[in-house]
Amino acid sequence: MMSDYLPPSFESARSSKITVSDLSVSYGNFVALRDLNLEIPHGQITALVGPSGCGKSTFLHSLNRLTDLIAGCRVRGRIRLDDNLEITDSATDVLALRRHIGMVFQKPNPFPQSIRRNFEIPLREHGALKSEIPEIIECCLKDVGLWDEVSDRLDRSAANLSGGQQQRLCIARALALNPKVILFDEPCSALDPLASAVVEDYIAELRGRITVVIVTHNLAQARRIADRLAVFWVREGAGTVVETGVASEIFKNQTDPDAKRYLSGERG
Ligand code: ADP
Repeated sequence: MMSDYLPPSFESARSSKITVSDLSVSYGNFVALRDLNLEIPHGQITALVGPSGCGKSTFLHSLNRLTDLIAGCRVRGRIRLDDNLEITDSATDVLALRRHIGMVFQKPNPFPQSIRRNFEIPLREHGALKSEIPEIIECCLKDVGLWDEVSDRLDRSAANLSGGQQQRLCIARALALNPKVILFDEPCSALDPLASAVVEDYIAELRGRITVVIVTHNLAQARRIADRLAVFWVREGAGTVVETGVASEIFKNQTDPDAKRYLSGERG
């Protein structure tokens, strides 16, 4: 059995940095992203913001090779995790990569099975021992504040949980693989305001432990939780990053005029 799996409680800081160099992504002849360069520092929350259609999701999907699943999608350039894992290299083991870089989507997507199976399936696939799984489930559900709510119904369907609970389950399921990075694609936008606030708080708590990259259309949310910001925009027909840096500084002062209008709420 492959087992370089390490339960979440056995390691603390596993966050990693991501270095993106000259990344371009096309769908057929359409260039969605062109010549994107970005450093995503470890242990911080980096928010990707900008109007719809400027390539934020495309970028997020290229970080864990979900772009492989789209027919006609071509990725050029280089993305590295920690100076030693070449994400964009076709020889890279994608299953192993996705253990290091988890993903949480806009619409909560628990497997239509029991809460317990939602953990057992990925954990067994990645080589965790059966005997260690109950402790991992408890640890990860506690991490997202869900343990007290579901500990007596782990064998019931995850589909019976509320939207906010399902999204926290998806975060816990991602955490169970002890990832270095978690990608969030508008994780709160399908939730009601209260559930959204709860999920946002748990994302903020990942700071320092895990590198977080989050696409959000909610600038107030980016202001609350982001350490760093990357503002995406369409330039010469293709998406790219027009402003990036420490979030609090960018919110105060932008050099790019489009980023300025967008962040002040005038455009986008
Ligand atoms: P954002 O997340 O900023 O809204 P996307 O990454 O979803 O932007 O889309 C960037 C551009 O790529 C858009 O013009 C969109 O229509 C296009 N696009 C996204 N996915 C596909 C796809 N699977 N096939 C063709 N074009 C796509």
